Amino acid sequence: MSYDAIIIGSGHNGLAAAVHLARHGWKVGVFERNKMPGGAVQTREVTLPGFRHDLFAMNLGLFAGSSFMRLHGEALMRHGLAFAGASDCFATPFADRSWFGVSQDRTKNIARATSLSASDGETWRRMSESFGRDAPHIFSLLGSPMPSRDLLSIGWKAWRAQGLSWIIDTLRLLVSSPRAFLDQNFESGKIKATLAAWGMHLDFSPDIAGGALFPYLEAMADQAFGMALGKGGADVMIKALTGYLQELGGEIHLDAEVLRIDRNGNRAAGVTLVDGRIFTAKRAVIANALPQTVFGRLLPGGSGNAEIDQRMKSFRPGPGTMMIHIACGDLPDWTAGEELKRFAYVHLAPSLDMMSRTYNEALAGLLPGEPVVVVGQPTAIDPSRAPEGKHIL
Ligand SMILES: Cc1cc2nc3c(=O)[nH]c(=O)nc-3n(C[C@H](O)[C@H](O)[C@H](O)COP(=O)(O)OP(=O)(O)OC[C@H]3O[C@@H](n4cnc5c(N)ncnc54)[C@H](O)[C@@H]3O)c2cc1C
Repeated sequence: MSYDAIIIGSGHNGLAAAVHLARHGWKVGVFERNKMPGGAVQTREVTLPGFRHDLFAMNLGLFAGSSFMRLHGEALMRHGLAFAGASDCFATPFADRSWFGVSQDRTKNIARATSLSASDGETWRRMSESFGRDAPHIFSLLGSPMPSRDLLSIGWKAWRAQGLSWIIDTLRLLVSSPRAFLDQNFESGKIKATLAAWGMHLDFSPDIAGGALFPYLEAMADQAFGMALGKGGADVMIKALTGYLQELGGEIHLDAEVLRIDRNGNRAAGVTLVDGRIFTAKRAVIANALPQTVFGRLLPGGSGNAEIDQRMKSFRPGPGTMMIHIACGDLPDWTAGEELKRFAYVHLAPSLDMMSRTYNEALAGLLPGEPVVVVGQPTAIDPSRAPEGKHIL
């Protein structure tokens, strides 16, 4: 059987690529080794009936704000996509029974910061004001292929609008560690720890260069837009993507593991599945799998490009994460404050040093002395994920 494009993997990125091409009239086939589509976006009743847990990803904010959503959002909504908005986004409690948190309400955030340090309250106000001006340039930068001509044009526009010193400050932010950025801007260790916890979500512990942007962006974007969870579970996004893809004529093969990408000379020409079936692709084979899988197992003998093969040799995956799913009668009684029950995420990560130590121990192959815990409280935002009055963590 022949397709215009074959997509390996039905994670949301593979499905988004498939939808995009099918919308342009391409005949698309998606091949997924699992029995369910969605990759790391799955929702299941893994504890008790009626308790719907996101097995991995829960926060759909990046998808909700994506250019893909701007292009295809209406059709996806027709196929059931719906979000539950969180206005109390993330918080950290501390051993002295205090807490700091980021909500959509700017006045509240400034008051919380000011109660810890007058100067931090002022910094928060300043950052919030400049975020509206900075965000369009930063998001354009993050959404561009690198390196590319688009980058030059974004740099040129930013220089015209914001000036050279803004460009230098932004470049510094892009290469800084979370600790360098937080130390430069805030006094309170509690504010620093609360923000740095977002770096950990993206595998940037406080001392990893290049991680400063994420605590900054998550805090300011959550304050500006709130956080988006999938209504009823993150899989609402996958159901909408697969439904829309099928409407467009795309085909999804489940339980269909790709053994290798077949080549015609130096060109990807199709795939052979583990069960021996062969499919050809006239225009593209797009692999949504991990780079080690694509350039290791799926392309035996290497990619044919010496530079890529050399880079893949030094590819190192980040440390692992373990998720525990709990069905419960109520949300935790947070001793630091009843308000913590309203937040989508509560991080048990009270200092930069603790996060750094935990991360380094994990990288060294040790069981960390203390875990960095991300407590997701989705039913605080979307009660439909559990029977009435009950909760999941
Ligand atoms: C525990 C956890 C929590 C997370 N939380 C969040 C969050 O809250 N918000 C957020 O934005 N991000 C979160 N992430 C990250 C996010 O889930 C991933 O970045 C995203 O889901 C990756 O999507 P993808 O489509 O690129 O790949 P994946 O979802 O990994 O999909 C790849 C697919 O390819 C398939 N595949 C691989 N090899 C083959 C083969 N040979 N043949 C056929 N199929 C194959 C796999 O089975 C899989 O279905 C989290 C990740 C984890 C692990």
